[in-house]
Amino acid sequence: MDCLFCDIASGRLASKKAYEDDDILAFHDINPQAPVHVLVIPKKHVASLLDLAPEDDALVGALVRTARDLAHRLGLSERGFRLVLNCGADAGYSVFHVHLHLIGGRALGWPPG
Ligand code: AMP
Ligand code: ZN
Repeated sequence: MDCLFCDIASGRLASKKAYEDDDILAFHDINPQAPVHVLVIPKKHVASLLDLAPEDDALVGALVRTARDLAHRLGLSERGFRLVLNCGADAGYSVFHVHLHLIGGRALGWPPG
């Protein structure tokens, strides 16, 4: 299967890693939208939020907790940060492997564009 983030998860494609364990990889976004913009992904291929199954609940929890830990490590926990999961065309979902955006380091507008 041709998937950009599977290639990054397996190391076939290079990334600037921020965290890695057996199930999860976090790496800096190639087109950062803020001073900190990290993507946290499951190593397992899940095409989108629409494909998550009940057995993925622990994985989703680990993604969020990993992003929270990274926010702390990258100095964002005092000022704040945002976690974003896009899904579908209206949200601009462009890489079809679930990824949690960790964004921070500047004041973020709300509502998002
Ligand atoms: P989304 O719009 O939620 O699908 O986000 C996809 C994100 O992946 C965008 O923020 C892109 O900048 C990012 N991205 C695409 N290719 C790469 C890559 N090779 N390395 C790091 N980030 C990437
Ligand atoms: Zn994939």
